[in-house]
Amino acid sequence: MAVAVVLFTRDLRVHDNPALASGCRTASRVVPLFVRDPAVPSSPGRDRFLAESLADLRDSLRRRGGDLVIRHGDPVAETMRVAGEVGARHVVSAADVSAYARRRERRLATACAGERTSLTVTPGVTVVAPDALKPYRVFTPYHRAWLALPWRRLESAPRTVSLPDAPLRSVDLPVPVSGGSPSPFPGGETAGRRRLSGWLSTVDRYADDHDDLAGDRTSRLSPYLHFGCLSPLDVAAKAGGGPGAEAFVRQLCWRDFYQQLLYSFPALPSVALRASAPDDWRDRDDALEAWRAGRTGVPIVDAGMRQLAREGWMHNRARLITASFLTRYLGLDWRAGAAHFARLLLDADVASNNGNWQWVAGTGTDTKPYRRFNPIRQAGRFDPAGDYVRRHVPELTAVAGRDVHQPWLLPERVRSGLDYPVPLAGVAPASWM
Ligand SMILES: Cc1cc2nc3c(=O)[nH]c(=O)nc-3n(C[C@H](O)[C@H](O)[C@H](O)COP(=O)(O)OP(=O)(O)OC[C@H]3O[C@@H](n4cnc5c(N)ncnc54)[C@H](O)[C@@H]3O)c2cc1C
Repeated sequence: MAVAVVLFTRDLRVHDNPALASGCRTASRVVPLFVRDPAVPSSPGRDRFLAESLADLRDSLRRRGGDLVIRHGDPVAETMRVAGEVGARHVVSAADVSAYARRRERRLATACAGERTSLTVTPGVTVVAPDALKPYRVFTPYHRAWLALPWRRLESAPRTVSLPDAPLRSVDLPVPVSGGSPSPFPGGETAGRRRLSGWLSTVDRYADDHDDLAGDRTSRLSPYLHFGCLSPLDVAAKAGGGPGAEAFVRQLCWRDFYQQLLYSFPALPSVALRASAPDDWRDRDDALEAWRAGRTGVPIVDAGMRQLAREGWMHNRARLITASFLTRYLGLDWRAGAAHFARLLLDADVASNNGNWQWVAGTGTDTKPYRRFNPIRQAGRFDPAGDYVRRHVPELTAVAGRDVHQPWLLPERVRSGLDYPVPLAGVAPASWM
């Protein structure tokens, strides 16, 4: 009787999970294992999402006759411990891209070799494997090459998962800290699949609507993709054809692009990709604090930052505007902005977060590294009626129409009645007209 340990990392699903499928194919008994690693940065929002995702995964495995073993500690040591407890001679896990994950994989390979245990590393975190193409630093040629690649076969969810007879010790599921009202992002594969199927019925409009800040019509699938509650390949395959679907799949390609960038450039979170990029950022704690708090006095920026604080998520257009404002107008270091995003985002992802921050800051992969997003023009274009700002900045709800984007132009008697800051000193509203 062959026994395998399937180590889940950020592939918390049963559908199209190559690691789980491979474990079930090669062994008659399988131990699905998740190890809560204290070295992986957490946040209350992500802890909640993770706990719900693990509960959902455990339910799915139990319905198939299996279970989810949860341990706490170093994933390599715990995997080898579990393998020893059940006499497993086979370990399966998904490949990942960050320096930390790749070190974990190397350590796991060494530990397995020492115990005469085989290790199978499967794909599944991206649509195409990060090393399927040569490393690219520019998106357009990467996209072209990516589109020409064949996709791997989708894996169906295993019908049954048989556990070994040996008793298995598991710690309790982490208990999420309740934030009061239900989250707009319930964690787990079941919730992700439900959201995906609802959203796909509107994918035709994606090409036209994805930048409409108030309309909020993007998929909001990013946390599910980050934790692997959904397979990116399955999502791309289900999107189908047509201009909306093509535009959407292109975004999944952006995701793969940054994953392969981190894979080939592990210092992405801390070192400018473009060696010649200036690295002379200003040091202004007051400005950084105002930006974080959503009190810069520039409504479109403050709306984005407050959406982030409240929902743990921000619309992509708002991410571009707020990141550009921090780096290009306030002159502050992209690493401080990325760190703040990483603390609050449910979808916080080392590759996508730092890759996008470097793109916006002009230190990364943008072929026009000196571009900056004028916040007022962006607001007029992507929030023309001002509804996004009024939704997130309650001090401005009484200001009608697009006047809300430039409160400093309102008559003095109106302006003085608003409890809203003036733009930060050193940032000149005149240059935004
Ligand atoms: C400064 C900055 C930081 C960001 N940090 C993150 C992050 O930590 N994690 C993250 O998942 N995305 C990040 N993004 C990318 C993007 O903003 C989010 O993926 C997107 O807003 C998620 O919303 P959605 O699921 O509705 O996206 P959709 O528009 O519905 O797109 C579908 C999916 O494609 C992927 N995607 C879309 N745009 C991008 C992009 N520019 N780069 C990489 N993947 C993309 C995401 O997985 C997304 O869920 C960042 C963007 C910027 C400008």
